[in-house]
Amino acid sequence: MTTQHHKLVIIGSGAAGCSAAIYAARAGLAPAMIRGMQPGGQLTITTEVENYPGFADAIEGPWLMQQMEKQAENCGTQLVNDFIKEIDVHANPKTMLGESGTTYTADAVIIATGASAKWLGMESEAKFNGRGVSACATCDGAFYRNQKVAVIGGGNSAKEEALYLANICDHVTLVHRRDSFRGEQILTDRVLAHDKITVKWDSAPDEILGDEGPTGGVTGMRLKSTKTGATEEIDVHGVFVAIGHKPNTDIFKNQLDMDETGYLDVTAGTVDALHNGQKVAGVFAAGDVADNVYRQAVTAAGMGCMAALDVNRYLDNLEAAAAA
Ligand code: NAP
Repeated sequence: MTTQHHKLVIIGSGAAGCSAAIYAARAGLAPAMIRGMQPGGQLTITTEVENYPGFADAIEGPWLMQQMEKQAENCGTQLVNDFIKEIDVHANPKTMLGESGTTYTADAVIIATGASAKWLGMESEAKFNGRGVSACATCDGAFYRNQKVAVIGGGNSAKEEALYLANICDHVTLVHRRDSFRGEQILTDRVLAHDKITVKWDSAPDEILGDEGPTGGVTGMRLKSTKTGATEEIDVHGVFVAIGHKPNTDIFKNQLDMDETGYLDVTAGTVDALHNGQKVAGVFAAGDVADNVYRQAVTAAGMGCMAALDVNRYLDNLEAAAAA
């Protein structure tokens, strides 16, 4: 199997990865960007993007990510279709093994692996996954045209999914475990004003109901009040889970510091990855993988820029030290 060396490997191709790639390529580092399982990241399964600066009208998430990748490539980034399954961040050079069998080595690494959708963890959710249960309205919403669906969650994702589905489906029930939403007020106002969306406050899924036969699927959902424990059944054919995300950090376990939910720790105000509280030379983390607070495309892009600038400084210092 082949081995290839790069000055900089960027793991992940969402907003953080692409922005890092653009800056690093323009600094002459000819970075390799490993595109990962979901090239383009979470914005590729987003509906309209209204809050990424620079666009007066709403744009499509997948289109934005295509543009970012093309921009990175045009600046001199090598796009690599692979998925890093193992890494040694403490080796010199940093060493990574791709799903393809290729080994990548690098003087510096930017971790921009992002986060993936979380699931409820119910048995019935797993049973009907892909047969009525989904975590992506833009991917699967069209299957439920003129039908009744439910969305689970109370953050921006859940509200956006509900609004998107309300344009396609007959009716959307938004199920939230508390009595107020998180996130942007503008989305809350739109949801509450929409005549095809009903919000079930203080409610959580108890079981997803359906027909398990070969042509079956979801037919309903039993909800349980989080206040009284009372149950009720609603009639739905699709259930969209939008309860947040978990960072993609499994390959960094025991090598880098992370919080209890798996987000990588970075020194406050920087993108330096840490191990036992100490900066790990040449390893930087940008975007949702290291941010459990803001988690926006624009903040991810900003962190990607910071990481590329820091890599450039780090490599310059290494070269200067080697020449001294
Ligand atoms: P989030 O803000 O973490 O919200 C997750 C929601 O799911 C919360 O309402 C939470 O309830 C609920 N939840 C979590 N676990 C649950 C469970 N086991 N059962 C039932 N409900 C559960 O996640 P997100 O909406 O995916 O957003 C992630 C980040 O992306 C946020 O920073 C958000 O602002 C950003 N984002 C922004 C936009 C935009 O700007 N337009 C769009 C999408 C996402 P509680 O409220 O009770 O905790």
